[in-house]
Amino acid sequence: MAFFDPAEGWDREEIERVQLTRLRNTVQQALKSPFYRKRLGSLGITPEAVTSLSSLRDIPFTTKGDLRGAYPYGLLCVPRDEIVRLHASSGTTGAAVAICHTRDDLNTWADLMARCMYMVGIRRSDVFQNIAGYGLFTGGLGIHAGAERLGCLTVPAGAGNTRRQIKLIQDLGVTALHIIPSYALYLGATLKSVGIDPRELSPRIALIGAEPHTEEARQRIEYLLGVKAYNSYGLSEMNGPGVAFECLAQNGMHIWEDAYIPEILDPKTLEPVPDGEIGELVMTTLTRRGMPLLRYRTSDLTRFLPGPCVCGRRHRRIDRILGRADDMLIIKGCNIYPMQIEQILLSFPEVGQNYRILLETEDGMDQMRVQVEIREEHFVEDVRVLRGLQERIARRLRDEILMTPRVELVQTNSLPKSEGKAVRVHDKRGQ
Ligand code: ADP
Ligand code: ZN
Repeated sequence: MAFFDPAEGWDREEIERVQLTRLRNTVQQALKSPFYRKRLGSLGITPEAVTSLSSLRDIPFTTKGDLRGAYPYGLLCVPRDEIVRLHASSGTTGAAVAICHTRDDLNTWADLMARCMYMVGIRRSDVFQNIAGYGLFTGGLGIHAGAERLGCLTVPAGAGNTRRQIKLIQDLGVTALHIIPSYALYLGATLKSVGIDPRELSPRIALIGAEPHTEEARQRIEYLLGVKAYNSYGLSEMNGPGVAFECLAQNGMHIWEDAYIPEILDPKTLEPVPDGEIGELVMTTLTRRGMPLLRYRTSDLTRFLPGPCVCGRRHRRIDRILGRADDMLIIKGCNIYPMQIEQILLSFPEVGQNYRILLETEDGMDQMRVQVEIREEHFVEDVRVLRGLQERIARRLRDEILMTPRVELVQTNSLPKSEGKAVRVHDKRGQ
């Protein structure tokens, strides 16, 4: 098997041996920032105290609040002059945090990213279109650097302007692209509406990530764009894309354990959950020098997939992200994740590519309204047919989430589209 990086082929023993050395180095490096010196110093955590990988459990967590408190330079472990790039999380959940990279950090990140792309069959002969916002969002420059590292002809298309994206794909003979799933669905629908057959377009691979999506969404994207689509997971705090990535098996994402130590913990007790159970992903960087982070609480919910992958890599796999811990909706006493709703909606062929969930208070009670775009050819159907569809959707939703939302069928392209990551839930309770 061809690996971009020999580290992909390491066995568990080798991975863990390197992790221990790198964890010690990371603790040593982290102690150079006032923040970690204060936090670790009082607990007596030194590189020498890290005697095995289980020593990790003695290290306190780092939270998003810590990063906000240290904004922008408070966690630097090198002189400011050695920092050559700053990224910030897209601010989906509040005040921004800044992540600073040295030149070496950027190099390692580009290698990780190139490794992911090579794994799914992208080569230097590919023409790669990066349909992602450039700027502070890491999906732009982060993916870009990986594609250039591989030697692809890399097209920094940026986000939006769908007609121009399609023209670039056609004119340049694009063979691989990166796109967030909600926009991929929209692009697919646009191709259809302008009468372009995706099978006549050249892309064969799409990297999709940066936001939660279901297997149903992936299959739609593959069909609508005529590609194989691979899930790409990352977060700015851990560099950005390149943290965990699906291999050709499309069955879970390999998390690169030579660069990170992942843990999956019960978000309440902060104890490890048994393998295969869902919990919060907590990550430690192993190669970062500018701004290493120890046991960072990502708030993303996932589980380790048990057993080794058919591709031969021994880096553990995580399941697709269910959502962030704070994405969970509590309505009438039921705990619901938006992805449970997406999974049901997109399993209906009549349902189009966009939907949203509205939470409202009516007579002092929580109500959920699900607005679903219906594909044009179905929207013209008889009212009775549409009502039947509405009822079937509501019934399937009730079976999944144990409460009956109000379902509204709306016309294609009538729901607002967000620039960047999709905003699926609108909570208007108490307004
Ligand atoms: P923000 O937290 O402001 O959105 P980032 O751009 O750093 O900023 O986004 C990282 C977050 O995006 C992750 O913590 C996760 O919640 C989400 N995310 C990234 N990739 C995926 C993916 N493949 N599947 C689901 N969610 C993802
Ligand atoms: Zn694999």
